[in-house]
Amino acid sequence: SLVLFPLVGLFVAFMIYQLLGRFATPVTALRAAMEKKQFIPYLQPVVDGTHHQITGCEVLMRWQHPQSGLIPPYQFIPLAEESGLIVPMTRAMMEQVREQFGPLAAELPKGFHFGFNICASHFKDLTLVDDCKAFIDAFKANPIKLVLELTERELIEQTETTQSLFNGLRRMGVLIALDDFGTGHSSLTYLQKFHIDILKIDQSFIGRIGTDALAGHIVDNVIDLAKRLQMVIVAEGVETQAQVDYLTPYQIEFLQGYFFGKPVAANDFVEKWL
Ligand code: C2E
Ligand code: CA
Ligand code: CA
Ligand code: CA
Repeated sequence: SLVLFPLVGLFVAFMIYQLLGRFATPVTALRAAMEKKQFIPYLQPVVDGTHHQITGCEVLMRWQHPQSGLIPPYQFIPLAEESGLIVPMTRAMMEQVREQFGPLAAELPKGFHFGFNICASHFKDLTLVDDCKAFIDAFKANPIKLVLELTERELIEQTETTQSLFNGLRRMGVLIALDDFGTGHSSLTYLQKFHIDILKIDQSFIGRIGTDALAGHIVDNVIDLAKRLQMVIVAEGVETQAQVDYLTPYQIEFLQGYFFGKPVAANDFVEKWL
């Protein structure tokens, strides 16, 4: 055992070193990137379901890396959420959009909406209410609608904090959208508890339109369910005319997808859509 003891110690030290190597470096990198303002908003248009006119947008985060170029969210959002950095990153996103678009308020279509993706852990942070207020206040010249999108994949547990946060948001007129609808397992009680205003039908369902009979049946069911819940519906991931034609009889309020426009940098968005 005299021989084994230092060996075990060495092994443990090695494992800790390995773990730090795997996790510490990327979080440090994220923090540094945040300080250098490398996280930037991309905006994707959302159009109305009848005339296909722009009615709002969704803000999607990108990492503008000096060497690697534009990094998509799936490569850094999970780590940002795990580390808690997602909260200041989201705040910075709201600030950037507010600073860029607030002065353009008068040029926005009436009732234009801005959607931000908010992760479940962020709904425990009461500063979210202040951030939303600052955002709304920046558009006093021509009031906008602020939408917070929360994914059905990670449902929020009801606590006093989340409840008072949701109440605060509602009082300000902030709308809550349930993202990726159909992929999770939210119940009617859940939807009522959190006063969900908007359902965003997951793009995987829209992508199945026209593929085969069973797929069509599944799509119809998800849309029927959303309709029965009597909420405003957004169909996401609309890519083709065939999908638009399929959705038309359902009279879905809003459509979003590459068919209408891809997410673009804020300057390009202004030039293209306003
Ligand atoms: P999401 O919230 O469901 O966003 C929609 C995603 O679908 C976006 O991918 C968008 O670019 C993409 N998309 C839109 N239309 C189409 C289409 O017609 N076809 C296809 N194939 N894709 C389409 P993106 O920007 O890569 O974002 C992926 C996910 O990363 C988002 O999914 C969201 O969950 C997360 N995310 C993005 N930005 C943020 C953020 O600021 N905060 C948080 N917490 N999550 C974010
Ligand atoms: Ca979303
Ligand atoms: Ca979605
Ligand atoms: Ca223009």
